[in-house]
Amino acid sequence: MIDLHTHSRASDGELTAPELLTEAAATGVRVLALTDHDTVTGLGQAAAAALARGVTLVPGVELSTTWEGSGVHVVGLGIDPEAAVLTRGLSRLQQERRRRAELIDRRLLRLGIPGALAGAEALAGGLVTRAHFARHLVAAGHAKDAAEVFKRLLGRGKPAHVAGEWAPLSEAVAWIRSAGGVAVLAHPQRYRLTATRLRRLVEAFKEAGGTALEVITGRQPPTAALVLAGLARRFGLLASLGSDFHGPGMPWGGLGRLPALPAGVDCVWRDGALVELR
Ligand code: AMP
Ligand code: MN
Ligand code: MN
Ligand code: MN
Repeated sequence: MIDLHTHSRASDGELTAPELLTEAAATGVRVLALTDHDTVTGLGQAAAAALARGVTLVPGVELSTTWEGSGVHVVGLGIDPEAAVLTRGLSRLQQERRRRAELIDRRLLRLGIPGALAGAEALAGGLVTRAHFARHLVAAGHAKDAAEVFKRLLGRGKPAHVAGEWAPLSEAVAWIRSAGGVAVLAHPQRYRLTATRLRRLVEAFKEAGGTALEVITGRQPPTAALVLAGLARRFGLLASLGSDFHGPGMPWGGLGRLPALPAGVDCVWRDGALVELR
């Protein structure tokens, strides 16, 4: 089993990197990419734990980007976490996260909910995401679960939503490539774009130097993979697969439990290694 999209406590996963690797080994995942949001701080610990557990670790990251006004995630696989251009890009994204978190905090305060950022920070093991705000708000009794928090407060168009000013899609792809990595357009169906706009996004991603589409992601309708495989073929892109695992108690996928890639697409992981880029 291979799983090329997962999170640890360095971003908004529930497990530490060593716990994630233990879980991977126990579930039978042989190849695992750790792809935390906008940070690579979990990768050192993950590499040591992977070695000890006989799992092959693919060093990765999931970058927050903006494309034509929509938030789009780009996974980088096989990156050098110390590459200078990527490091600068990550600190820019982390600064933007900080700025956005303070704005979210102010909005929640105006809605009668004080101390949300402090609460979110207390739960975070690294950078602060909306998932930490959601966990804090649930713990503080403002909602029954995270889904309700997003539906009522933090989701797009809701009163405490703040759109991040992330990196332009093309820049994020360039950072990944300059770090020696392969850029993967993450969970393309989750952006709720029209078919035409999705096609334009895939085209822009390809033009920017993107390599693969995440054809299989956790919790997507079975027909989605076929649509995405068609797009990958049409634009000459490879295919990736990953659960987007955030922890046993979180929505998104279960670790490693993924359907096979549809026929007619080539996987970014083949013959025991990530594809080489020229
Ligand atoms: P951010 O990157 O700060 O915008 O936070 C987004 C994160 O919140 C995602 O990566 C998910 O982990 C989590 N998230 C988004 N939507 C939901 C939802 N409806 N229910 C639970 N968690 C969510
Ligand atoms: Mn997340
Ligand atoms: Mn994502
Ligand atoms: Mn993810």
